[in-house]
Amino acid sequence: MNIVWFKKRLITIYSWKYIIFALIILVWCFAIWITSGILATRRIDLVVKRERQIAQSTADNIAANIYQRLSQVKNIPVVMAFDPSIASVLDSFFPDNKSSTLQINQKRDLFLADPELNAMTERLNEIRSKINLHTIFILNAAGDCIAAGKPPENPIFIGENYSDRLYFFSAQKGINGRQFAVGRTDRVNALFYSKPVLVSGRFIGAIVSRININNLTNLTLDQGVFVTDENGVVVLAEDRNILMKTLPGSTVLKLPEKDLKTVYRQDKLEILNILPWQLDGASDAVQWENSEYPFVYAHSVVNNEPVTVNVLRDLKEIVEIQHERVIWTVLVSGVGILSLLLVAGIALYIFSVSKHRQELLCLNERLNLEARTDALTGCANRRNFFELLESERQRGIRYSFPFSMLSLDIDHFKRINDLYGHPRGDQVLCHFVSIIGKNLRLTDRIGRVGGEEFNILLPQTVKSEANLIAERIREEVERSPALYEQMVISFTVSIGVAQWQLEKKETVNDFISRNDKALYEAKQRGRNQVVVDEGDTL
Ligand code: GH3
Ligand code: MG
Ligand code: MG
Repeated sequence: MNIVWFKKRLITIYSWKYIIFALIILVWCFAIWITSGILATRRIDLVVKRERQIAQSTADNIAANIYQRLSQVKNIPVVMAFDPSIASVLDSFFPDNKSSTLQINQKRDLFLADPELNAMTERLNEIRSKINLHTIFILNAAGDCIAAGKPPENPIFIGENYSDRLYFFSAQKGINGRQFAVGRTDRVNALFYSKPVLVSGRFIGAIVSRININNLTNLTLDQGVFVTDENGVVVLAEDRNILMKTLPGSTVLKLPEKDLKTVYRQDKLEILNILPWQLDGASDAVQWENSEYPFVYAHSVVNNEPVTVNVLRDLKEIVEIQHERVIWTVLVSGVGILSLLLVAGIALYIFSVSKHRQELLCLNERLNLEARTDALTGCANRRNFFELLESERQRGIRYSFPFSMLSLDIDHFKRINDLYGHPRGDQVLCHFVSIIGKNLRLTDRIGRVGGEEFNILLPQTVKSEANLIAERIREEVERSPALYEQMVISFTVSIGVAQWQLEKKETVNDFISRNDKALYEAKQRGRNQVVVDEGDTL
């Protein structure tokens, strides 16, 4: 029962040790994970901040560049509108806003045949190429193109009617117009600016300049940069896959299909796949076209123009930082666990070494005691007793202290053995020692010097006192038989008494032999008595 309990307790103690160890490791790993998380978040914040700044300044730069370019484009019609020669040309060709009944071809032939319009076309071409514009053209009040400066490779569009264009509507209303549209003849994305030509407040036509969207800026657009028009449609991008797609939630999604067709020449516009990305410290982070990492998004509206520059910069570095965080956590935790194991190992080693040392010391102590003690009776053995005797002799010489010794021999002990057996004899020996013990002082020492022979050292004792002690012992032994299972074993003891001779500095051997003689005398006189050695010290 007790062993089971002990085993259980041992197992409990050991498992607690393991649980505490596992807990320390867990807390350690958790602390590393949290710390590396804080560090990673700081690094991520810095990366996001840097990328956001770059994105914004890129967007602003490109927007400023586009603004400069567009200023030129929209200023041309404004300046030319004041040219009287243009007003005079317009006045000659359908200055009213009624549409001509002629077919496009007929109108084209009519306009191309006119030298004045040819000269105008020539002039428009000159201006166009000087400031690197795509097209400058003049529309009459009905929206027919009567003269046009254009790149040589583009088809002639003189005679075409543009009265359905927004920029024309604006001009008709007497205000400057502008519009993004896909070129009707060349299907190229372009921006158009118009300026009405008014004579005495009457609208007689408009001057229109056009710039192709891919000429908006002379800056190279990186992969993540794209330009949207006022409706949120991507009109310029290095990545051709996103062209003519639209930003989520932009106004183009509310446009009627008819307008989509006129402006963008599309039935439906695809929506760009931009979703918000949950990232601490970067509420503007987005997921771009199913990317595995977030992007920062910045945009800059070109001043007073229907154009917005959008910039996306990838935050791939964040994924790397997060990977690094995992690697660091694993490494530091691992090193920590190894160090912990090492420390625990060393502690365990030191503990077990010191425990062994302790055990060894105890064992030594026990062996020492055993070497000095009689195993049966627990009193000093023969060798030890003689050492004690010698040291008492030295003390006696040094301080002139007297001491005496009793030699005791149980009478007829052989008979006890024969009658009751050897083990009983052993028990009688122990009983005998316990009787003696009761009659001695703490400073007195008893030694077993033979089978049933004992000596008692009595420090600071003269032989008369020793005699009294011996007599007391003898009487006590006689009075106290050993009792075992209703068996009474009576026995007696003979005692020889002698006092050490200080004047002679008597040797231990001489002293013992005097003592033995007294004992022998006691035996001779009939046993169970005390004989005092009559040395010359009394
Ligand atoms: P005497 O009165 O002359 O001393 O007679 P005795 O029988 O006591 O003396 P003897 O020397 O003839 O016998 C001593 C006996 O003590 C012999 C031995 O068997 C016994 N003896 C010695 N050592 C031990 C011991 O450790 N245990 C036991 N049970 N007996 C022992
Ligand atoms: Mg004997
Ligand atoms: Mg004897």
